[in-house]
Amino acid sequence: MATVNENFLKLQAGYLFPEIGKRRRAFQQANPEAKIISMGIGDVTRPLAPAVIEAMRAAVDEMGKKETFRGYDDGGVGYEFLREAISENDYRSKGIAVGADEIFISDGAKSDTANSQELFGLDNIVAVTDPVYPVYVDTNVMAGRTGPMNAQGMYQNIIYMPATVENNFVPEPLDRKADLVYLCFPNNPTGAVATREQLAKWVDYAKKNRAVILFDAAYEAFIGDPAIPHSIFEIPGAREVAIEFRSFSKTAGFTGVRCAFTVVPKELQVYDSRGRGVFLNPLWSRRLCTKFNGVSYITQAGAAAVYTPAGREQIRETISLYMNNAKTIRERLSALGYTAYGGVNAPYIWLKTPDGTGSWDFFDLLLTKAHVVTTPGAGFGPSGEGYVRMTAFGEPENVHEALDRISRIS
Ligand SMILES: *Cc1c(COP(=O)(O)O)cnc(C)c1O
Repeated sequence: MATVNENFLKLQAGYLFPEIGKRRRAFQQANPEAKIISMGIGDVTRPLAPAVIEAMRAAVDEMGKKETFRGYDDGGVGYEFLREAISENDYRSKGIAVGADEIFISDGAKSDTANSQELFGLDNIVAVTDPVYPVYVDTNVMAGRTGPMNAQGMYQNIIYMPATVENNFVPEPLDRKADLVYLCFPNNPTGAVATREQLAKWVDYAKKNRAVILFDAAYEAFIGDPAIPHSIFEIPGAREVAIEFRSFSKTAGFTGVRCAFTVVPKELQVYDSRGRGVFLNPLWSRRLCTKFNGVSYITQAGAAAVYTPAGREQIRETISLYMNNAKTIRERLSALGYTAYGGVNAPYIWLKTPDGTGSWDFFDLLLTKAHVVTTPGAGFGPSGEGYVRMTAFGEPENVHEALDRISRIS
């Protein structure tokens, strides 16, 4: 008799985005003429940069010739040309010591943030910010690091750190011990960023507790403020206590192409049951070689083009377009009397629902009265109640149209 991994049965039934999709479809069916504008799911809308397309076309041609054909990417950790380009452009040229042999290419930061927990013992205590990108929590549930979910919507054994107006949506280090701390800055869903001082406190915490920080920097390209760190490795000492996840998804519109990378520094250690240090870099490499055969050559060639002068310029333009949307959303919502956070160094606006309206009720109101889809904050954790997330990904004319409609119901 095959039995089930009962940890999966602890998972909350309705995942956020299917429920949003269900409500959207039901409304569209009842109102076929309504032109719904989506500001809900965090997916990009602009096409790939021409430099990327050109590089991918050239790579396709190489694959079609006997002389230049490529099969398996040896080891599955990513081609040297891409790991070198990342090391040089994202790190070394900015004074951050990250070598190509500390970079592992993958098909997504979702997979990497989900899979990296496999490296850690099941008795590790996990801490997350609340609201949170659900992947960090659900994958630890699947692995068996938690108990069931309680009535407050929190899994037992996970430490939830509320991200609220009071702490500017950046929780302070805990006064209790956690072993694995997930941090995401710029943050999805709140749009908050962490300062150098705030990150330094977390690095200090991790050192004191021999904890590991799992730092999700999927939105670093949206940082405009020069004082805000793009990488956890800008903080002295972070190489001993942190893993960093990055992705071409939001940076370069690769959500449908799939390419990301994880940085595991050589110094980073965890401990065996006798307290002896074990380096994580070779462990992650070993895991990849066993379970993964790499990202397609065509995709990696496209990703490398992101670092060419033309690629950089084209990507910068797209990000500016999104960030102008963010500015429009923030400013127009504020002018209407709403309280909106984020949207300055991140493509997300975290909108306080008016008069204490529940986030699913406000979602329904915006859907039925303005035909605008948002994401209810409660779907990201208990502290997200009372907010909805709006994304700045979209065409400027749609953003203006959505705000016009919201202004008519406000
Ligand atoms: C979009 C997103 C990612 C990127 O996921 P990919 O699998 O690389 O597309 C990672 N983390 C967060 C918080 C995100 O919102």
